[in-house]
Amino acid sequence: MGTMPEGDTVWNTARVLDGALGGSVLRQSDFRVPQLATLDLAHWRVSGCESRGKHLLLRVLAPQDARAMTLHSHLRMDGSWRVYSAGESWRGGPAHVIRVVLRTLTTVAVGYHLHDLAFVPTADEETLVGHLGPDLLRSPEAPGGWDPDEAVRRLRQRPDRPIGEALLDQRNLAGIGNLYKAEVLFLRGIHPKAPVSTVENLDAVVALAQRLLTANKGRWIQATTGSVRPGQETYVYGRAKAPCRRCGTLILRELQNDRVTFWCPACQPAQQVAAQPTGTC
Ligand SMILES: [Zn+2]
Repeated sequence: MGTMPEGDTVWNTARVLDGALGGSVLRQSDFRVPQLATLDLAHWRVSGCESRGKHLLLRVLAPQDARAMTLHSHLRMDGSWRVYSAGESWRGGPAHVIRVVLRTLTTVAVGYHLHDLAFVPTADEETLVGHLGPDLLRSPEAPGGWDPDEAVRRLRQRPDRPIGEALLDQRNLAGIGNLYKAEVLFLRGIHPKAPVSTVENLDAVVALAQRLLTANKGRWIQATTGSVRPGQETYVYGRAKAPCRRCGTLILRELQNDRVTFWCPACQPAQQVAAQPTGTC
């Protein structure tokens, strides 16, 4: 699919898995990770699949006692779930990166490069996702759902932290990855290293992030420019050394706390960073 597994991608993946497996009885399962190697979900019924931030929760019911359990997975940077018809060839990657295979009578779901696989009672899901901040793509009424005031409150708890790091911290708000971080900061004219306390309108920042992710719900293209043409989808993300679409200045790329970021030095000036005291003499 070529997209970064950010909140919108994970939301889409949950919808696909829910549509393919929801309500169906599994015929066979194959877990290729040590911690779940003996787990057998044959005859279990899939009750549904949901995303929480960048976490996937696939819920299943035991055949005898309808005990409710949840298979948790995280896509991080490289993971994906693909759904195939029975008998169709699998194209999601080499066999050695397959972590989970779930089969129904008609469908096969294959999980590639999955991380943090765990099988827990559904009642205990909060132990895996309870730390997350408000979910940008979740209904405000749902547990952990979108709450912009709460997201801003959490961001402000560490005022000295660079905004580019704070937006990626899923405990503040859940769903933003490198792409949306870079694009939101460009659109608001904010340098990625600006301390949270110097960002003038955090409400507008989180509102914009929520609008951008929501716009890409239900499609596999991540576009923030309004164009879905290849090479036109983003303002700064993935565009190092290319001219800024607004001012022509070359876009910069740098690692920030081990995560890549892109910005336009003219549209996102670093004056807040430069204005910090540099010494006492
Ligand atoms: Zn620019």
